[in-house]
Amino acid sequence: MPGDYNGNGIWCIAEIRHGALVPTIYELLTAGRGLATALGQPLCAVVIGGPGKASQAATAVAPRGADKVYVVEHAALDAFLDEAYGAALKGLIEKERPAKVLFSASAAGRSLAARVSVLCGGGLASDVTEVSVNGDKHLQALRPVYAGNLISQVSVRRGPEMATVRPMAYSRSEAAGKTGEVVPHAVDPSAWNLRSKVLGFTPEESKEIDLSSAERIVSGGRGLGNPKGFELIRELAHSLGAAVGASRAAVDSGWIPYRHQVGLTGRTVRPRLYVACGISGQIQHLAGMSSSDFIVAINSDPEAPLMKIANLAVEGDLYQIIPAVIAEIQKQRGEAGTPAAAAH
Ligand SMILES: Cc1cc2nc3c(=O)[nH]c(=O)nc-3n(C[C@H](O)[C@H](O)[C@H](O)COP(=O)(O)OP(=O)(O)OC[C@H]3O[C@@H](n4cnc5c(N)ncnc54)[C@H](O)[C@@H]3O)c2cc1C
Repeated sequence: MPGDYNGNGIWCIAEIRHGALVPTIYELLTAGRGLATALGQPLCAVVIGGPGKASQAATAVAPRGADKVYVVEHAALDAFLDEAYGAALKGLIEKERPAKVLFSASAAGRSLAARVSVLCGGGLASDVTEVSVNGDKHLQALRPVYAGNLISQVSVRRGPEMATVRPMAYSRSEAAGKTGEVVPHAVDPSAWNLRSKVLGFTPEESKEIDLSSAERIVSGGRGLGNPKGFELIRELAHSLGAAVGASRAAVDSGWIPYRHQVGLTGRTVRPRLYVACGISGQIQHLAGMSSSDFIVAINSDPEAPLMKIANLAVEGDLYQIIPAVIAEIQKQRGEAGTPAAAAH
């Protein structure tokens, strides 16, 4: 029955991906702190992983705003497997009874949250961009629906109330000046009924900087005119140590793979520098990048929406401006060379 569950504490579930802590936990801690303050409840992180890995990650998480960090560590949890992680988390939730549980809306987080919500009987709001509590102290969330054309407000009424939070929807928590208490939680995998196992992991062979965690991004749009325009974008990105992004128009034109798309139906990014080249700045694109610290727009149309919100709006033909910028960077660094002129 909704309302029968009396939990205490806001939990944020950390993710360890191939041995490394994913920094989205710090975004969850920012989101969770708002709920914890509103409810007057403790904010806790949960780190699940293989021997040594979870406890190492917990030492990184503990100073970043959590009052308590639960560590669930076992060889059976070395690689992410939602059946195993779900069983481990269910045991911890049944023992400690948190009020709200936040996961990252990553591939692993989405899978784990759905499983845990069924195992524990709690309601789940998926892929949300904002969390709060309503007058009844239930979890309330904003989530884009119909491919982002509408934003719906949902309320989760069955505890433990859960949500998956879209990466980059919140800023990352900083060191809080105090270190949360680290609490180990032992598990016994012999009781788990696992029907799958991880055989191995083959990383994608790409030297590109990952878009979602990039500090600098150079993006290209329809204004490039053709797929070869991305050679120039890549060259500018390379000289800035930046990742390559794109508008949906460029992706839909087949100029660059979908994994580069920024926006409502692509990635949400929050870099320190975002350079938009030949992108008009429709609302769906802005939804994915407008939280960037410093935005540079290069566009021949001074009335383009992105030119209006940019910190630096450069009016002109990108095929003249970008090579000049690259040449200047090379000059400043004392490097020889002429920027490759992309076919126009
Ligand atoms: C449900 C839905 C979801 C969507 N999701 C996304 C999303 O996730 N991401 C996204 O990006 N879009 C998304 N869109 C599409 C979005 O509405 C726009 O159509 C798209 O962002 C436009 O891409 P663009 O800015 O590259 O192209 P355009 O709007 O065509 O803009 C091209 C720009 O290039 C400039 N330009 C042209 N030539 C030059 C030149 N030589 N030098 C300099 N500037 C030049 C033009 O002045 C213009 O401003 C979505 C749409 C819908 C309906």
